[in-house]
Amino acid sequence: MKNLALLVFGAAVVAAPALMTAQNAQYPQILIPPGKGPYTFPQGYQTPWDKIDIMVTAKMSPNLFVLHGSEGLDPDHPDASGGRAMALFGPDGVLMVDDENRQVQEKTLKTIRSFTNEPIKILVNTHVHPDHTGANAFFAQQGAVIYAQNNLRLEMMRQPARGGGAAAPAAAAAAPQAGLPVGTYNYDPAKPGEPALTFMMNGEIVDFVPMMPSHTAGDTIVRFRNANVIYIEDFYRNFGYPFADQGNGGSLRGMLDAVDLIEKVAGPDTTLIPGHGTYVKRNDLLPYRAMIVDVLNKVKALRDQGKSLQEVLAAKLLEPYDKTTLGDTQSSKDRFITEAYLEVKDFPPVVEGRRTMTRPQ
Ligand SMILES: [Zn+2]
Repeated sequence: MKNLALLVFGAAVVAAPALMTAQNAQYPQILIPPGKGPYTFPQGYQTPWDKIDIMVTAKMSPNLFVLHGSEGLDPDHPDASGGRAMALFGPDGVLMVDDENRQVQEKTLKTIRSFTNEPIKILVNTHVHPDHTGANAFFAQQGAVIYAQNNLRLEMMRQPARGGGAAAPAAAAAAPQAGLPVGTYNYDPAKPGEPALTFMMNGEIVDFVPMMPSHTAGDTIVRFRNANVIYIEDFYRNFGYPFADQGNGGSLRGMLDAVDLIEKVAGPDTTLIPGHGTYVKRNDLLPYRAMIVDVLNKVKALRDQGKSLQEVLAAKLLEPYDKTTLGDTQSSKDRFITEAYLEVKDFPPVVEGRRTMTRPQ
């Protein structure tokens, strides 16, 4: 009897993990990985939006798909146009994470309609940039209720002041009212990693987790608990150098805090979905973190010696990282070093959920 019990128990222990592995092994499915480059565009090149497709590029579960644009056409994001969007679908309706550029909004909807006819109900914006929110008004017309941090809503309403009093570029002109988030929440510094909202839909549990001021002052990450994936938007990137949108309350140091929070909220096997570049796991964020710390330290040392921004840019501080950084254009390098230069002196505190840094053009 004793032996039999042991045998049965042993069999159950062996069988259970085997079954789980078989189920999980099917996902994620990366259907179309982003390109690697290098890419060059002639002077005066304009993005040919009519040539850009929005495709299902990955499946994170049977009803959780990732959408992303064509490679090699969009100089802002040559590896894959736009910022990743996601769609969770089923009988409870469609929940979207971000919505791609305005210029391709019809294509984004058409691609969603290729796999579901359910109504589009909920849209969350991970941050204000137009490759993530450009189609807000369009999807609101489709029925989506838009959620975001209140800071994102404010960023949409009043575009950041530019250095020298220059007007904001046309693409960033104030969003139509219909595109503004209507469901808002704030980051609570006493509860980092705590969801502001949790949706139970289509067999998933979806957490909207507001972030500290990092890539911008209005960032949200989105966790799908059952699929074990987190959309981590743009405070981490592996195509081009880090970008902290200081004009919208972001900072490199805030991005370090964001990486540290991911190390806590993600499991070792959680698939992390950046807005751009390749999919990663939490430990893949550590070399990126170390690079930002190293660059901040080196730039601070030079600035403390009285070096000008031009001198620091000329010091080629990123040379050790160029070999391992895809998409390492001169403008991406200069932007990163300039951000570091601005932050290592007179770094403003967070006041009412945001930092106010003036970013020179
Ligand atoms: Zn983006």
